[in-house]
Amino acid sequence: MAKEEPKRTCIGCRESLEKSKLLRFVLDPEGTVVPDLINKLPGRGAYTCMKASCIYKACERNQFSRAFKTNVPVADPEALQAWVIRSMEDRIASYLALANKAGKVVSGSDMVAEMLKRKVSVKKLILLAADISEDIGNRLRGLADLHGVEHVTLFTKDYFGELLGKGLRSVVAVQGDGFVETMTNEIDRYRNFLRGEGCAYE
Ligand SMILES: [Zn+2]
Repeated sequence: MAKEEPKRTCIGCRESLEKSKLLRFVLDPEGTVVPDLINKLPGRGAYTCMKASCIYKACERNQFSRAFKTNVPVADPEALQAWVIRSMEDRIASYLALANKAGKVVSGSDMVAEMLKRKVSVKKLILLAADISEDIGNRLRGLADLHGVEHVTLFTKDYFGELLGKGLRSVVAVQGDGFVETMTNEIDRYRNFLRGEGCAYE
């Protein structure tokens, strides 16, 4: 039987949740609160729900000082929130670059459309740039829906191109069970955070 996952309390809303559902924060050597998205940084951790409002509550009530049992300079919740978002984006970007190196990425609207039409039973995930043209975006979303392939909108054409070492890319497809599963989880977490979900409080 799987071991039960340890729980931690959100220092914002006091809700107790499994560690993997929370954001971990640590103090860096200078004594600044930093997010630790991979739960690997050394030292005592403080936890909040994956929700900006819980980060704000924790900052307002100076709960980081209490959690770290030392006087932490009051963290700026807006900066902390931006940092979490950036770290989540960096992780998604790293996985995309890794998938690209592994030959698991197809990019460009024609290539992706072709790939969607082929009936291959490998898991796929379609990433559409936020600035994709409406026509192309709708066509690809329709094709993906038709073939039961998940699609999400994030990043920009420019950023996709940069990550893949190419010119502008309005759409990217990732293939392979492992990459698709990991990236889907990362993207879900990121979008939930942006939407402000993930906490029973409020
Ligand atoms: Zn919370």
